[in-house]
Amino acid sequence: MTERLYYEDARLLSFDAVVTKAVPSSEKTQIWLDRTAFYPTSGGQPYDTGTINGRKVIDVDSVDGDVVHTIEGELEAGEKVHCEIDPVRRRDHMQQHCADHMLAHLLYVHYGAFTHGLHISGDISTIDVTFPDGRTHLSEDEIIALEEEVNDWITQDEPIKCWFPSPEELETLPMRKAPTVDEHIRVVWIAPDEYCACGGTHPLRTGEVGCMRIIDTKPARGKMRVSFLAGMRAVRDNRSKTDAALKAANTLSSSWSDLPAAVSRLREKCAELSSDIRDLRRKLILLELEKCTPSVSADGRSIYTCIFNGEDVEALRDAAGAFAADHDAYVLCASETDSSSLLVFVRGGNCTQNVGSLLSSAAKANGGKGGGRPEFAQGSAANAEGALRQAEESLRS
Ligand SMILES: [Zn+2]
Repeated sequence: MTERLYYEDARLLSFDAVVTKAVPSSEKTQIWLDRTAFYPTSGGQPYDTGTINGRKVIDVDSVDGDVVHTIEGELEAGEKVHCEIDPVRRRDHMQQHCADHMLAHLLYVHYGAFTHGLHISGDISTIDVTFPDGRTHLSEDEIIALEEEVNDWITQDEPIKCWFPSPEELETLPMRKAPTVDEHIRVVWIAPDEYCACGGTHPLRTGEVGCMRIIDTKPARGKMRVSFLAGMRAVRDNRSKTDAALKAANTLSSSWSDLPAAVSRLREKCAELSSDIRDLRRKLILLELEKCTPSVSADGRSIYTCIFNGEDVEALRDAAGAFAADHDAYVLCASETDSSSLLVFVRGGNCTQNVGSLLSSAAKANGGKGGGRPEFAQGSAANAEGALRQAEESLRS
């Protein structure tokens, strides 16, 4: 069984060991050591990286109680090796991990919530939590209160201790949740009153966590997923969000604090302008239709045929519909775009021919498709002019 040095000293990042077993496979080798400070992926905390005799460590796993290191290149059983652990990655994992304990503790104390597991392998650290009242999110005020309490705890720089208590001692400890293993239970205590079984790496004091931000809370398969960041991850996240907000504020000639209101005003202005543009487009379409010289259909109604350039479907539908109703006529129009053309056929109240079937056959014969009701139809055609001509002839005959 590999002696796990990180149990005793999570700050040990450089150590010597002996290779007890080596299994090469293509360009890699799996290495067993008599002792290791490399943390293997477990409990939601990813493995440590670093080097073993200068060979890059690319994975560390826990297998049947042993720690198996996967390295690039080769090493042989019996070799004495010097190992170095990547300090930045380890520190980051310790910060996320410790913040998880603190957050889980406060959720338990304030809400009686049960934290299931930790995930810190992605950019965002998360815990999944079950609340007695089944809630799946926290309010903004609750998040702020929780975040400030964790950060206050960090600032207090409370001591953290990890040890393997005897079964008798374990019974006396106010554990936050029951251990998931029966023996060799390792307890992590964060002063003053957080006790939890855990095999991970932790700092010596809460101050090493640096800071913690709760990103959000949302439902996740019936539980609440709390996303958070600790240490440098929180600093970087805060910086990138602040930078984005400041750039947006500068673009809008607004102050940082007025940004949400400035964005709201901009959205309102955009909605007003969009509405004005829609009205203007509709009026332009009506003017164009008025300029058309109509032909006469077999049922004695006028046929207005017109091709527009790049009109949007909503404006075309709206204006053509109003024009057909006003003039009690057939309106056959198209709008040409880069790829294909849009077709809209509408008829007035006393028109009797079915524009749905008319559009369907005209579109089909001119490289397109579409259809609709007897009174209104919509579609597309590769050859808009051909489709309109065919439809007009059909209405006239
Ligand atoms: Zn832990």
